[in-house]
Amino acid sequence: MRPVRRIGALALVLAALVAPAPADASTIEIAALQSALQGLQVYSGFVDGIKGPLTRDGILALQRRRGLSVDGIAGPETRRALGWRGRPGLGSRVMRSGDRGWDVAALQFLLQRAGQGAGRADGLFGPLTRAAVVRAQEAAGVGVDGQAGPVTIRSLRSGAGGESEAPPTGPVRFLRPVPGPIGDPFGAPRNGYTHTGVDIPDPEGTPIGAAGVGTVIYAAYNGAGYGNLVVIQHRLGYTSWYGHMSTITAYVGEEVVGGTLIGYVGATGDATGPHLHFEVRHYDTPIDPAPLLFSTVAARPTTTVRPGPSGGCDGLNRGGHDDWIARERLCAER
Ligand SMILES: [Zn+2]
Repeated sequence: MRPVRRIGALALVLAALVAPAPADASTIEIAALQSALQGLQVYSGFVDGIKGPLTRDGILALQRRRGLSVDGIAGPETRRALGWRGRPGLGSRVMRSGDRGWDVAALQFLLQRAGQGAGRADGLFGPLTRAAVVRAQEAAGVGVDGQAGPVTIRSLRSGAGGESEAPPTGPVRFLRPVPGPIGDPFGAPRNGYTHTGVDIPDPEGTPIGAAGVGTVIYAAYNGAGYGNLVVIQHRLGYTSWYGHMSTITAYVGEEVVGGTLIGYVGATGDATGPHLHFEVRHYDTPIDPAPLLFSTVAARPTTTVRPGPSGGCDGLNRGGHDDWIARERLCAER
């Protein structure tokens, strides 16, 4: 074992001493920290509550930028340097529409982990966050008011990851959104980055079916490579992503089941030919979808192939709180 590993272990021990709360509390705090660092553009990783090298680099960059002691530990001084993103603490107030801060980012992470789809954890309590709070409150059987107070937070913390909300058996599985074998696999090298999904080549106009039960949280053009993109929020913190579509037929807020038509195969965005870029994320971290795929194809066979006009998603759910997806890329530095 190299010395650097031992330093890492020491930092973990120190972190444990500073925060003697349950493991889950530190996960939530790290997620809120990652959200804040992301907002300040010093963190390019995912808000997943896991303190990896990218998170540490983000803290170091912030400390350097603000002339703080550069130790990679997010102490009180570093927290203050985050501005509104560094406060207030989770549970210190009832959060409602228009609020922003550390606690809102923590809430968004909890919602996403519970599979309630708050979009990105950006620390801003907007319409998507409110809708997610309502869904979580309905699911938990607590009072439904769209505001996040102690009861809602407690139900989110105890529900996700706990035994009560866990499915009886087995991991989450997905239907194949389109027919055909996988071409470019997950993790394929892309010029210093790695592919965050799998590519399934199919003729332009092939119908694409939702891979499982969920709610559409994004249906618009993405300028960072995905082209016409649909994102579906599933239970337990999973989302599925469908890129390069010729035409989008899904809309934000639509409840789908496996096989619901959501659009057609195309080559919009960063694509050299018609194919579906299919991606699965767990708590916003891309994972290899291949082992999770059933052999069954979700898309219903059709005799009329409909090649829609490229980029034909004007007027579809643009702007608002789901802008963050527009900045997401097909490849990630891992
Ligand atoms: Zn791809």
